[in-house]
Amino acid sequence: MAIDRFGRNIHYLRVSLTDKCNLRCVYCMAEDMVFRPSAELMQDDELLTLVRLFADLGFDKYRLTGGEPTIRPNLPVLVRAMKDTPGVRSISMTTNGVLLPQMAEPLRQAGLERVNVSVDTLDPVRFKRITRWGSIDTVMDGIRAAEAAGLTPIKLNAVVVRGFNDEDVADLARLTYEHAWQVRFIEMMPFGDVAGFAQQQVVTDKEIRARIEAALGPLPLLDGGRLDGEARLYQLPGAKGTIGLISSVSVPFCASCNRARLTADGVLRLCLLRDKEVNLLQPLRQGATLDDLKQIIRDNIWEKPWGHALADQVIPVTRVMSQIGG
Ligand code: SAM
Ligand code: SF4
Repeated sequence: MAIDRFGRNIHYLRVSLTDKCNLRCVYCMAEDMVFRPSAELMQDDELLTLVRLFADLGFDKYRLTGGEPTIRPNLPVLVRAMKDTPGVRSISMTTNGVLLPQMAEPLRQAGLERVNVSVDTLDPVRFKRITRWGSIDTVMDGIRAAEAAGLTPIKLNAVVVRGFNDEDVADLARLTYEHAWQVRFIEMMPFGDVAGFAQQQVVTDKEIRARIEAALGPLPLLDGGRLDGEARLYQLPGAKGTIGLISSVSVPFCASCNRARLTADGVLRLCLLRDKEVNLLQPLRQGATLDDLKQIIRDNIWEKPWGHALADQVIPVTRVMSQIGG
């Protein structure tokens, strides 16, 4: 078991498979983003070695992310190998959905359990404006393919950006009347080069809920406000699905945090919003023993920061979201 000095049991690893992406969302990366050479990223055998170590330390829940995880070559083979690692209980994935029409079924066959798909608006023009390169029709096809393949329950992630999609919150919420999906609204977080943009355009949890209620009526809280992962759940009366609010900026959930992150370049990042990191790939390549690496992981998990300090203007600067994975 990996415990931190505040007594939190850290057993959920979010693994970034690549820093590259087939979209360029405005809050995530610049259009001319420069990516790392593939040789600097974890190769399949290195990734599987590190996953084995984390699993030995009690990490049982895994989420694949990116950049865009579906562009990693041979993804189904990698998922199968991860799933076969003793101690790995569940693997899910966060994706922009662009490649799901062809990949949902093979990924399900390989052992992927479910997907979260990022959809910030249903409006084709605004979708293109936010993602720069994306098509909402393709992503909706991807969501349907994921549902047909059984990658359920489907969760949709929408980052709310003032002036880009704050008008679309109610339309996204409306999807829950027809579909048993969890539509989650995420407060935008500031990172590196895009921090200024994120801070100016952030729309808070409270404002998001007010927008939904103004259009669709009262939005009752579910389960007395108990968190489902990082989301606080609500449900519109008569809806099949639920609405999740992820308020990392205005109402942080750090006390119940159980996660760590492994970046595509093999760095263990202890908190999404803190720059404290430790490189694992470098010692692995330099011949460190597996026991040495386990000890590095254990020691650093122990020192996991309590929480973020965005309110005090402490902003993560070393990486943007696509280099961490979300
Ligand atoms: N490419 C995949 C996708 O978009 O789902 C996975 C990686 S992406 C970095 C993971 C999640 O982070 C997405 O839901 C995305 O919308 C969210 N995200 C990116 N930049 C963000 C920011 N500045 N604040 C909050 N969420 C952000
Ligand atoms: Fe790519 Fe996801 Fe970042 Fe959008 S949020 S640019 S899809 S990594």
